[in-house]
Amino acid sequence: MINGIPTLEDLGDIEGERILVRTDFNVPLDDGRIVDDFRIRAALPTIHWLQQAGGKVVCASHLGRPKGEPNPAYSMDPVRERLAELAPGVELLENLRFDPGETSNDAAFVARLTEGIDLYVNDAFGASHREHASIVGPAKTLPSAMGRLLAKEVDVLMGLRDRPKRPFVAVLGGAKISDKLGVVEALLETVDSLVIGGAMCFTFFAARGEPIGDSLFEPDQVDTCRRILDESGDKIHLPDDLVGLDANGQFATWGTRLPDGAKGFDIGPGSAAAFTDVIMDARMVFWNGPMGMFEDERFAAGTRTVAQAMADTKAFTVVGGGDSAAALAQFGLDDEVDHVSTGGGASLELLELGDLPGLAALRGAPNA
Ligand code: ADP
Ligand code: MG
Repeated sequence: MINGIPTLEDLGDIEGERILVRTDFNVPLDDGRIVDDFRIRAALPTIHWLQQAGGKVVCASHLGRPKGEPNPAYSMDPVRERLAELAPGVELLENLRFDPGETSNDAAFVARLTEGIDLYVNDAFGASHREHASIVGPAKTLPSAMGRLLAKEVDVLMGLRDRPKRPFVAVLGGAKISDKLGVVEALLETVDSLVIGGAMCFTFFAARGEPIGDSLFEPDQVDTCRRILDESGDKIHLPDDLVGLDANGQFATWGTRLPDGAKGFDIGPGSAAAFTDVIMDARMVFWNGPMGMFEDERFAAGTRTVAQAMADTKAFTVVGGGDSAAALAQFGLDDEVDHVSTGGGASLELLELGDLPGLAALRGAPNA
């Protein structure tokens, strides 16, 4: 038991029992082929433990956004093939989101899901911030546990929240600030420095009254950003140079005041160097969100430099977020950080609120 949540050991004798394991097999697909099987491999410690203890493992996951009806483009078949290679003898149910009852947390869907099932294990960290049927339903009636992956994620992320080593630095980027404002405010309570890059920085520049050209920004968040800068400006590091495309579509470098028609797509080399210094001096770093539009090689330098700093620093380093993890893997640096979270939204919500619906459900299980 960890913080009131049963672990695999708390399931008792599982010999011959059928165990529903909610996994996060929401892998990136390209033309029906798995691009990265990281999320499948991440579930193996739990699956192997259950099998070795004599349990019959039935995995269930969502894949993509099939909108509550069967859609062959999101069939679990490619995952089933890969899983059969990595863990023979595991059953895998069809995509949970082929049924509208999954996202609406329908009790009848939970009943169908748990028919003939004796025990429930949640190992789907990446989906545990959602109040979906397979995440919060089964633990109401079945003896339950958190799997190894979920336990590891919670341990690492709650460690950042509750036992920060200082200087504790958070690096945030990515496209949308509205998704992340809650966590920005929560992080500002605990971090020593908050580094902001990605498209996020333009809403902050707009809040400072600086011209941002045609860069991506969120007008309705400008007031909140201004308040955040007023309250915690001394902790916040914004870029002081930017690169992007000018009004004629030519690659250009600027300070933080962009000319008319310009679009900022990455932090500049000076900012990347300054951010590197902050990361190198830290003892703990959490990074979510690329520094620029790294999918385009012209705008990958800022993200690559920050990823390299994450690899080089002696600090304890944690990366959360699908695109940030993909960037790290693209640069071949995913083994160089201490923890790559399998959850983007879930890692941010756990840092912000200190709990997730999936964890609360396990705390309410009959064996908890
Ligand atoms: P994560 O998945 O790691 O949480 P997000 O989904 O929040 O990250 O953001 C990732 C996206 O942000 C990437 O597709 C990247 O191209 C985009 N992005 C980053 N900086 C910019 C920018 N300056 N302009 C437009 N898009 C950007
Ligand atoms: Mg993303």
